[in-house]
Amino acid sequence: MAASIKLSTSSFQSLQCSSGKKLAKLGNQKSISLFSHRKKQNGKESCFPMDVKIKALDAAQPFDYESKKIKEMEKKNKLKIGIVGFGNFGQFLAKTIVKQGHTVLAHSVTDYSEVARRMGVSFFKDPDDFCEEHPEVILLCTSIISTGSVLRSFPTQRLKRSTLFADVLSVKEFPRNLLLQVLPPEFDILCTHPMFGPESGKAGWSGLPFVYDKVRIGEGSRAERCERFLNIFAKEGCRMVEMSCAEHDRHAAESQFITHTVGRMLGKLNLESTPINTKGYETLLRIVENTAGDSFDLYYGLFMYNVNATEQLERLEMAFDALKKQLVGRLHTILRTQIFEGVPTGEISKQVSTFADVQNSSPLQRSSSSLEQKSLPSQSNSSPSNTLPLNTK
Ligand code: NAP
Repeated sequence: MAASIKLSTSSFQSLQCSSGKKLAKLGNQKSISLFSHRKKQNGKESCFPMDVKIKALDAAQPFDYESKKIKEMEKKNKLKIGIVGFGNFGQFLAKTIVKQGHTVLAHSVTDYSEVARRMGVSFFKDPDDFCEEHPEVILLCTSIISTGSVLRSFPTQRLKRSTLFADVLSVKEFPRNLLLQVLPPEFDILCTHPMFGPESGKAGWSGLPFVYDKVRIGEGSRAERCERFLNIFAKEGCRMVEMSCAEHDRHAAESQFITHTVGRMLGKLNLESTPINTKGYETLLRIVENTAGDSFDLYYGLFMYNVNATEQLERLEMAFDALKKQLVGRLHTILRTQIFEGVPTGEISKQVSTFADVQNSSPLQRSSSSLEQKSLPSQSNSSPSNTLPLNTK
């Protein structure tokens, strides 16, 4: 085969035969064939590679050197991350982490081997095997309510003592205290909460809040590893918010727990899209959609493992009662006006009995009858609530 290799003249200055004879004065030539020695053998023309040595590589060297260095740096920035809890959220995070070129391993109770394989993630059913792979970062994506038992039975002794533990639980004080309590002092701890999920973050993470608290991070290479991990989210455009776990929980009870509660309440109404949806109604439908995909374990965890959640539930109930009183109070005024301004008594007694029926029915009957009739006004004239620093979508 008469193949020929061409070398660009920009990559060398001169070529010499092993005999030392200069082969070509390159001058303006753009390239030179290394198979240019042709000999006639048995009447056929054959090509032979010339015995050449590249004498000077000063033009090519920096280029190779730079690309090698870039590759080395890229490799240095990559992490080996082990996800514990490869359910809905664990998989959602893994997709982006893999996309960024990090090595991802996963362990879960359910066998997700096939899903993991398709995503380029190595799945380990056995937690010992998983730990013996020595991931640099363990990313806890377990449900809030199972994290205590998962962590207590986790074979941490099989990990390297310098391992970084990070969690993504939607409550923060609970995992912080748990990790400090259960992990040996050599492990680093980073508590995080990506304030978005598979639904709200499906179009990308740009501008979405990512909360973190460096609970216990060593110095030097440990600090640098923590930054590399945080950089995964910063690189996707997340709004990085450093905040104590306690402060997170105060804000999250007001924003996230209320959103989930309202979303779940509205979900029970089986709201449907209509041909005349207002913008406000579309927003309500979106809240239902955003929260319906999350497990009840997650919602229960938001309530049970955030000390501020009970107070918010009571405030919601009080706000609903206050609103009802406001409505009913206005009805009272109308009735009194009618009584004192001589409206026919038959009409008044009809209105009074309707009002009494509503008041006397049980809360469940009241809610279902009002749901069926859809008689409650959908909008109040109260002022919009204040903006919190961690508002989710
Ligand atoms: P989840 O219901 O809160 O958690 C499901 C995960 O927990 C699965 O990986 C499941 O493993 C594991 N798990 C449940 N019970 C377990 C047990 N007894 N032992 C061991 N593992 C158990 O749903 P999620 O949406 O995937 O959330 C995971 C974590 O991410 C939660 O802590 C949540 O607060 C946090 N988070 C979620 C979102 C979100 O939008 N979904 C956003 C931010 C943070 P198996 O599947 O193997 O059973």
